[in-house]
Amino acid sequence: MYSVAENRPEATGGDGRRPIRQLDAAAQNRIAAGEVVERPASAVKELVENALDAGARRVQVTLADGGRTLIRVEDDGAGIPAAELPLALARHATSKIDGTDLVNIATLGFRGEALPSIGAVARLEIVTRAAGEGAAALEVSGGAMGPVRPAARGPGTTVTVRDLFSATPARLGFLKSPKAEAQAVGETLRRLALAASGVGFALFDASGEGAPRRLFEYPPETGDAEARLLARAGRVIRGDFAGNAVAIDAEREGLRLTGLAGLPSVARGAAVHQYLVVNGRPVRDRLLLSALRAGYGDFLARDRHPVAVLRLDCPAECVDVNVHPAKAELRFREPATARALVVTAIRRALAEAGHLTGHGLSDRALGGITLAERTPESDPAQEAAPPMTSPTTTPWSRPANRWAEWRPARPTGLAEAAAAQAPLAPVQATTAGAPAPASNADAPGPAADEGRALPLGEARAQLHETYIVAETKDGVVLVDQHAAHERLVLERLKAARATHGVARQALLIPEIVELGHQAGPVLDAAALLLDLGLEVEAFGQGAVCIRAVPALLGQACPAALLRDVADGLEDSGTAESLEARLDAVLSRMACHGSVRAGRRLTLPEMNALLREMEATPGSQRCNHGRPTSVRLTRAQLEKLFDRR
Ligand code: ADP
Ligand code: MG
Repeated sequence: MYSVAENRPEATGGDGRRPIRQLDAAAQNRIAAGEVVERPASAVKELVENALDAGARRVQVTLADGGRTLIRVEDDGAGIPAAELPLALARHATSKIDGTDLVNIATLGFRGEALPSIGAVARLEIVTRAAGEGAAALEVSGGAMGPVRPAARGPGTTVTVRDLFSATPARLGFLKSPKAEAQAVGETLRRLALAASGVGFALFDASGEGAPRRLFEYPPETGDAEARLLARAGRVIRGDFAGNAVAIDAEREGLRLTGLAGLPSVARGAAVHQYLVVNGRPVRDRLLLSALRAGYGDFLARDRHPVAVLRLDCPAECVDVNVHPAKAELRFREPATARALVVTAIRRALAEAGHLTGHGLSDRALGGITLAERTPESDPAQEAAPPMTSPTTTPWSRPANRWAEWRPARPTGLAEAAAAQAPLAPVQATTAGAPAPASNADAPGPAADEGRALPLGEARAQLHETYIVAETKDGVVLVDQHAAHERLVLERLKAARATHGVARQALLIPEIVELGHQAGPVLDAAALLLDLGLEVEAFGQGAVCIRAVPALLGQACPAALLRDVADGLEDSGTAESLEARLDAVLSRMACHGSVRAGRRLTLPEMNALLREMEATPGSQRCNHGRPTSVRLTRAQLEKLFDRR
């Protein structure tokens, strides 16, 4: 074995020590490049930021082999005067700041490191033309700079980077496949495109023979900042994101948050498509990303990730951008304020979106029903995904195959199902003396209108002991009673915790539950659980004794409740914030306290549930992110029966 020290080249001093020396510029730049240029995407980021800082209206990026052999960034910005060109390639040389004020930085760049760093690890050529002069060009290769020579091009700058990392081959080994690197470049460019929506962006792939292939192109967006962001977001995030998102506009202590937050229905299985722009700078800030997730809270299942484009604008002194060489991270002076702004803005916008839109049945799902009548056994159309072209498609559109759970097998199914529930489906409304037969929707009694005018309408029947059928002024609403009630119980638990605390109900006989390896974590969380109304204590190896349960949960089975809570704690893990762990536990508890599918409800019970849903923010989704109600408009009904 030999140590790192033994492996060093010959020392010069007699004592085995080498003198301190100043590294030359090329070495300095190669070292800086290690931080600034990690992969092709980081080089593209720096070059495009320079183009944006130069006031470009259009930026075009061309790659070959994922950027390894070629990266070219062309812009129509201000250009660099020929006399300054050599300085642009010197370390810590910048036109953007004078060094006296590192707070009020209005540009994306300011460190003066990108061009020299890239020039130190690749072959770099700049061709540029500033106003009032001819074009000039300059080349650098592995840190060695050539002379400035005259060139030809219109106003603007073209930077060409060839053979990235040829001067630092070790880095080459870390690059992924050309495809993966090109994807990373695309992602970087999309982030910048969302930060600069007034600028046009295009990405081309020039690998192999033939003309470069266009990977994407966004024209410069027009209108005010909000309109531009909306338009750009629609192009960047495909699928009808803009039509499935709520607008965010909130302010707190000088911080302003704008943008779009995707509805829970368009959430993804991974945290892709979360775009944050702080003071015009695309960032991946952990604080803001975690606030975004927290804003969705239990609107989303644990493994779903929101889609969002958010812009935070604040006075420069509220945020320090000089904490990361690639400027991808930042530091807020008041992190708690930034977090609270994001969490509450998202939460409020989602809650407001709830009843305004309701869970409409998309025409795509409608198509599924119509088709199903022709082929009752299998319906491939439900799996296919015909484009949603109709302007009546509402934001809460549902995939067709879930609707199939309800869909009558035959056209008469609905009537039959209602008949089977005869004792529970009386036609009189709960409002006194207001008979409003469901079959007579064309001429409803006047008093029935009261309930029908409410967002979730008047309960008319229960189907399969699972779904409530309600009539609204404009159609039919179906409510999944378990999903809905679960959400209501959760909201009650949360409200109780926030105000007077969750009331406990002591068990007459304490219950012993074997939990195995989960016993430890549950007991560790005993104080937290007590806060939530669940009192537990140790009972020997791997067992836990339950003394009290939350009174709100009624006759829930304590052992099943605790097992589920233990799972929730395990899922949320110890690394999660207390808030996330609380959410996990509450959501598990709510599930136990709620009306199960399969329980018969009376009409007054059903109406009470509907009214409470209307009064509860967030009730349009159950704790797992599934919808609690779907809506079928009269127009859609008429379409189903070919009346239109
Ligand atoms: P920084 O962006 O931090 O100033 P860079 O090394 O990226 O440092 O660029 C050095 C300088 O070169 C910039 O300050 C700017 O004056 C000039 N420059 C670089 N790219 C461009 C461009 N595309 N258009 C105009 N000027 C540019
Ligand atoms: Mg720069």
